[in-house]
Amino acid sequence: MSAVADSRLLDSTAAFLDRSVHQAWVGGGPLESDGELLDDIDPATGRLIGRVVTSTTSDGDRAVAAARAAFTRWAKTPPAERSRNLVRLAEAVEADRELLAQLETLDTGKPIREARGDIARALDGLFFYAGCARQIRGETIEIDDRFGVFTLRRPLGVVLAIVPWNVPFVLTICKVGPALASGNAVIVKPAEATPLTALRLAELCAAAGLPDGLLNVLPGSGKSLGSYLVAHPGIDKVTFTGSTAVGIEISRIAAGRVKSVALELGGKSPNIVFADADLDAAGKAAAAAIFYGQGEICSAGSRLLVERSVFDEVVGRVVDHAAALRLGDPFDDATELGSLISNDHLEKVVGAVERAAADGAEVMAGGGRSARPELAAGAFMDATVVGPTRADMEVEREEIFGPVLAAAPFDSEEEAIARANNSVYGLSAAVWTEDSRRGRRLVEALESGVVWVNGYNEFDAAAPFGGVKLSGNTREWSHLAMDSFSQVKTVWERR
Ligand code: NAD
Repeated sequence: MSAVADSRLLDSTAAFLDRSVHQAWVGGGPLESDGELLDDIDPATGRLIGRVVTSTTSDGDRAVAAARAAFTRWAKTPPAERSRNLVRLAEAVEADRELLAQLETLDTGKPIREARGDIARALDGLFFYAGCARQIRGETIEIDDRFGVFTLRRPLGVVLAIVPWNVPFVLTICKVGPALASGNAVIVKPAEATPLTALRLAELCAAAGLPDGLLNVLPGSGKSLGSYLVAHPGIDKVTFTGSTAVGIEISRIAAGRVKSVALELGGKSPNIVFADADLDAAGKAAAAAIFYGQGEICSAGSRLLVERSVFDEVVGRVVDHAAALRLGDPFDDATELGSLISNDHLEKVVGAVERAAADGAEVMAGGGRSARPELAAGAFMDATVVGPTRADMEVEREEIFGPVLAAAPFDSEEEAIARANNSVYGLSAAVWTEDSRRGRRLVEALESGVVWVNGYNEFDAAAPFGGVKLSGNTREWSHLAMDSFSQVKTVWERR
């Protein structure tokens, strides 16, 4: 009998959850540790889904030693063989995709259809990086006839990947894929709330025949272990996705060793709709842009800026979509909006809505915890739209990280650009217009790492993703991620 009695779980998921505890994975197997036990809770039901052994700093030392040993061999493994290893891992993930989706839904509360989409995206990323392993290239540089000059691309060593709770498997793979393909070993530190898919990935690495110690996972622990590892002399690179505040803290710690730190941080993305846009498509996309992932998405379109003449019409469409969203049991295939990550987080999100209302914004849809009695044990929040907001309001400035849209009107292209750029963040942005020249002007003017024109939240393993300003300092995905997990050695060879 599984720890979680649910007939919708696969036998393999039930068996995974049946373990008395979930241990760290180091050096090719589970690690015996004297770390404390941490409850892993399903936020949609409040039920206990497992107990995780919290990783200690000495577990961290063992993971570093295992990763360093694996790195020395892996770095010398020919790219074609690295590629074949990654293909085998991708095939193992593919065979296990429903189990991974179920674990992701149990840990995060997100709808199963979304979790399935996440696993598919991660899987595509693994296949992409399996191919990239064979595309590692240097360049030749013409200087003069005395020397031949060329560059070599070499791996960095041991990479520490620190992952948040919102899209755990995708954000693990987008680091692990290019790091391994480039010849590094990896230690993954998942968020405290969402360790399960990373632990399963480690098992799949072993099942797929990847060398022991190449991928290590240290669950259960947050700040203390994270900071310890960031400072650790055996870690060569830190890749972090999470909040801006923690990203800044990590940069400070890493600066002492001049360690490379790649940061993917928060966002407050503007979604700009001009009156000449396809308003039906824009309204539908604006709802999906904020409510996908319960709004707990770094690129969520949390600020809707609409040309005043169509403000009521567009916001009205978003409100209709919000009211029609199927909120509920994440394991129901029809569910579109699941649970937030925890009741504590839900209270923070609701508090921001209440302050917006007190500050004069109208709550046009939702506004708080779902009133449905069957959802009372979970962290379910109704899809919420507030507006018109002012630029100085918290709900328009701060990342709320929940299903809360701040809507505001604008009167001119210049005002739309100024309002959109009036943020410390610059992760993503979108513009809706049928005027392609205006679209191009906005692409140039928006201070943002990603811009969608007549679209939102489009992603592909081949397309770079990342932010400017306080949203980050790197680009993940694509061939650029390969570059960020390797270093250049320049060779001058006398002719
Ligand atoms: P968080 O910053 O609290 O935690 C992220 C990770 O860092 C967790 O694994 C946590 O345990 C670890 N951590 C916390 N303190 C640490 C420290 N001092 N040293 C080392 N590690 C530490 O973020 P969160 O609440 O888990 O995630 C939400 C945030 O992530 C949001 O701000 C969101 O915008 C951001 N995010 C960004 C992207 C992106 O691609 N830009 C994607 C997803 C989420």
